[in-house]
Amino acid sequence: MKQIAIDGPAGAGKSTIAKEVSKILGFVYIDTGAMYRTMGLACLKAGIDLADEDKVSDICDRADIDVRYIEGVQHMFLEGEDVSTDIRKNEVSMAASNVSKYQRVRTRLVKLQQELAERYNVVMDGRDIASKVLPNADLKIYLTASVECRALRRYKELIEKGEECELAAIEKEIAERDHNDMTRANSPLVKVDEAIEVDTSDMTIAEVVDRILELFGELE
Ligand code: C5P
Repeated sequence: MKQIAIDGPAGAGKSTIAKEVSKILGFVYIDTGAMYRTMGLACLKAGIDLADEDKVSDICDRADIDVRYIEGVQHMFLEGEDVSTDIRKNEVSMAASNVSKYQRVRTRLVKLQQELAERYNVVMDGRDIASKVLPNADLKIYLTASVECRALRRYKELIEKGEECELAAIEKEIAERDHNDMTRANSPLVKVDEAIEVDTSDMTIAEVVDRILELFGELE
């Protein structure tokens, strides 16, 4: 099976790029952030304190989550309900970042991600794909962009969805989430030595996709 790993901070364009690359190559796009978001949502629904590691871990161990691919698009189910839209809400982003630092939460999801990669050719995006989930991936990309640029992209996305938000608040949240994700003890976001860094600040989506396809082509 072939594997392309894409890691990077929030808003670097990972999911847009990974979706496009997977479509062109006929691979399955695995969005691991959506899995952590689903766990974050499960904890928000349970109304527990996200700082309580044992409680969060218990809820996440017991949560009935399922990932399904419907017409090539990943859908997340929680307790039988399709929560793919709910998990995109801004409050769920921060909840995901809070619960993803706990080892038990990660262990369950990493196992699920590795099982999927055994069955399909994948483009998988997240924070620990190259470092933990798929250490033998054929191609490892570290996608990044300036905080200002990433905040502006997220802001536009949320506005398009009709969510009320302020650019300055989004920028602050993104910086906070990056800090959480990069400094946590378990599987922090890192650029592994062999990853190729692509800064998307001044690149179009098509340019980034072409660059990754070119890098992947060079391997074959
Ligand atoms: O990529 P996305 O912004 O949807 O991820 C939401 C959160 O899930 C991240 O801020 C991060 O804390 C967590 N995450 C993670 N490991 C991954 C993917 C996401 O810890 N592989």
